[in-house]
Amino acid sequence: MPIYEYECKSCCHHFEVMQKISDEKLKVCPECHQESLNRLISASGFQLKGSGWYVTDFKDKPKKNVSESAVSGTSHKADDK
Ligand SMILES: [Zn+2]
Repeated sequence: MPIYEYECKSCCHHFEVMQKISDEKLKVCPECHQESLNRLISASGFQLKGSGWYVTDFKDKPKKNVSESAVSGTSHKADDK
C-alpha cells in the first residue's frame, strides 16, 4: 500500500498516511479541520514497493528500453486476440 504525504495549506500541518490507490484523497485537515489538504507524491511508498525491481533496474540500465519493449510486446499480443 503506498504512503501518501499530505500538507495543509491553512496550518502547514504535514503528515503521511497509508492509503490504497483506489481510496479517495483526504481533504480535511485533522489539525485545523479545513478542506485545505494538498496531497504530495511521497517517494517512500515507491521505495518500499519497488525495492524488488525498480531501483536496481533504474541504476543498472538507465535506458530502460528493454523492459518497456518487453512489456508492450506482451500487451500487443494480448490485444491481438
Ligand atoms: Zn490544517
